[in-house]
Amino acid sequence: MLEKELKDVIRDIPDFPQPGIVFKDITPILKDQRLCKEIVFEFARRLEGIKIDVIAGIESRGFLFGMMLANHLDIPFVPIRKQGKLPYKTISESYKLEYGQATIEIHEDAFEKGQNILIHDDLLATGGTVVAASKLIEKLDGKIVGYSFVISLDFLQSHGRLTRFSDRIISLVH
Ligand code: 5GP
Repeated sequence: MLEKELKDVIRDIPDFPQPGIVFKDITPILKDQRLCKEIVFEFARRLEGIKIDVIAGIESRGFLFGMMLANHLDIPFVPIRKQGKLPYKTISESYKLEYGQATIEIHEDAFEKGQNILIHDDLLATGGTVVAASKLIEKLDGKIVGYSFVISLDFLQSHGRLTRFSDRIISLVH
């Protein structure tokens, strides 16, 4: 079963990037090309029948499977990046972190008004990042049709923060 296989390779790194945090390291997945393909096939299977025009992936690990999935579905991919990284005209959204704040951006011509957008990231923790990403998509009049994550940290119970944008939330590992 895919979830079990993924759990077996995802590494827990204690005290990274700061003391007290156990970081889920997905880099071992990337070394296994068969597993990478299985991930893409599984996302595609779970998204069957949903009209997605564009996948928006969040820097930087959201680019990995976000781009692979977009390519597999034969649809465009757009990056959502940290402040100051995107070269063309952008719109921004700031959100609170445990300490301080972060800002993410998207190109203002990332997609057409009214298009159906799937937001992708590697991991859902508190939901702060994808809520900010969702606001960016809505500022550009995109319609969020769902979220996909490789990992969801369910104990943080952040699904509720996303359902006001879309109730389709796909996570391969819980
Ligand atoms: P949130 O905003 O939901 O609290 O945090 C999710 C964001 O932080 C994602 O962009 C994700 O890449 C990153 N992140 C937070 N914790 C982890 C972790 O343990 N492992 C990985 N791979 N990413 C994490």
